Amino acid sequence: MTENCIFCKIIDKEIPSDIIFEDDSAIAFLDIKPVSKGHVLVVPKKHTADALSADDDALKDLMPKVKKIAQALVKTTKADGINISVNNGAASGQIIFHLHFHLIPRFNNDYLPSWPHSDSEAGARAELAEKIKEEL
Ligand code: 5GP
Ligand code: ZN
Repeated sequence: MTENCIFCKIIDKEIPSDIIFEDDSAIAFLDIKPVSKGHVLVVPKKHTADALSADDDALKDLMPKVKKIAQALVKTTKADGINISVNNGAASGQIIFHLHFHLIPRFNNDYLPSWPHSDSEAGARAELAEKIKEEL
């Protein structure tokens, strides 16, 4: 348990939540301020700040659970689609620094904002792709 972490407190049942799934290593509960009906957070029990700092094994353990819960969520809410996402770092919108997957049911014509795409230039794209490949 990491002090002052709201999700660690939810895991330890110090703070109540609407739990929909729990096992030895993960928990999932309804978001208190849902983006859409059925917005769920899937959280590893071991505290880690975000996906970039998470152990590979923690992610391997979590991903099939994310998938299973997403499938159940789509069925329960009769959603037409679902966003599965992780915010990493304040600049991305992260406010709770304990890794969590957002599962956000989506409905045809729900008019939620989508990513604002922009144009890009082929040369700059190729240069950037090379740099990322080198880093990998
Ligand atoms: P982030 O922006 O860090 O990716 O998302 C954090 C999410 O946690 C937000 O969607 C927010 O509504 C949710 N949240 C914050 N505090 C609580 C809480 O005490 N209980 C629950 N169930 N959700 C919370
Ligand atoms: Zn935590």
